[in-house]
Amino acid sequence: MTVHLKSPEELATMREAGRIVAVAHQAMREAVKPGVTTAELNTIAETVLRDHGATPAFLGYPKHNSPNFPASICASVNEELVHGIPGSRVLKDGDIISIDIGSVYEGFVGDSAWTYAVGEVSESVQRLLETSEEALWVGIRASVLPNETKDVALAIQHFVEQHGYSVVREYTGHGVGRQMHEEPQVPNWWPRGRRQRQNWISYPLKPGMTYALEPMINAGRPETRELSDKWTVVTRDRSLCTHFEHTIAITEGEPLVLTLP
Ligand code: MG
Ligand code: MG
Repeated sequence: MTVHLKSPEELATMREAGRIVAVAHQAMREAVKPGVTTAELNTIAETVLRDHGATPAFLGYPKHNSPNFPASICASVNEELVHGIPGSRVLKDGDIISIDIGSVYEGFVGDSAWTYAVGEVSESVQRLLETSEEALWVGIRASVLPNETKDVALAIQHFVEQHGYSVVREYTGHGVGRQMHEEPQVPNWWPRGRRQRQNWISYPLKPGMTYALEPMINAGRPETRELSDKWTVVTRDRSLCTHFEHTIAITEGEPLVLTLP
């Protein structure tokens, strides 16, 4: 298990990869509205990435026993949590959609997801969105020395559970760099039982460490399942869910958020 610490030059390139993802998200914020299809959003985002000299990190992404991912963004609506495949689905007023965008720029990856309200959403849905976004920032604020990944995970989990929601167990944040998924894994919860924890590693944070923090939060129970397309993950109880993600870099002080505009 190797954690690749990035040099200042590598961090500068990663910042650019992240900035391009942020520009694509700005385009999403404007384009997400009732009547648009998820395929149209995919085209808009891919155009932004390519116009900035980046390529989509997700397009053709391989997965064991599944077809390669066929699109440039993941578009997951309502009870869909992650890895939704863009297509002919038309967004409706009151939906929520999580859009995950990855870029590759000069050999480095930027990775960021955001959950958007489509038109007007109810107050309870608005509260779910705001709490989930705040959970990401709780994790970012915990990403400081001398913490370990366990401290980040527990900070997110406590915050989310205090607000009456649940944290998805099966998917985690991850190191990012030349690869989209590197060490360390950064979970959003930490098991209590010693047996459950057997294969869990808490990594001490180090300056130059870069990872994508991505709490996935369910309004209902934490369990998920994968649909027959072998990609789309939904909540098992079909409750609403959210996904907010930034790629960050650990420093001696506050972490740098690489996927901001
Ligand atoms: Mg992502
Ligand atoms: Mg990610």
